[in-house]
Amino acid sequence: MCLFCKIVAGEIPSNKVYEDDKILAFRDIAPQAPTHILVIPKTHIPSLDGVNEENAEIVAHIFKTIPKIAAEEGLTNGYRLVSNCGPDACQTVPHLHFHILGGAKLAGQMG
Ligand code: 5GP
Ligand code: ZN
Repeated sequence: MCLFCKIVAGEIPSNKVYEDDKILAFRDIAPQAPTHILVIPKTHIPSLDGVNEENAEIVAHIFKTIPKIAAEEGLTNGYRLVSNCGPDACQTVPHLHFHILGGAKLAGQMG
């Protein structure tokens, strides 16, 4: 079982900010911004490359929920969404996740 599947299963604790039957959002253990939240599907999808017709609905649900999480977190002045896919992007956990970064003016245009 991968690290984030263990978090979904409750085998590894996490600081949850949102949960429903399909997805989970929790605070990143090593925040890169004042607000740094990871949003994941509860089912194991390895990365963006694993998105397909069968699971695209979950990804759509993640995207519909992200603005609600951002609003709950008070990110009224904007935020950045990042998903690292594969080695060149330095993906370290092989379970699809979206980083919500905000709470301050972020440096640069990407990542
Ligand atoms: P990636 O580098 O794959 O895009 O992002 C993985 C993220 O998971 C990193 O930002 C890292 O800090 C975070 N992370 C790694 N292990 C844990 C953990 O056990 N708990 C939480 N909450 N975040 C983790
Ligand atoms: Zn997994």
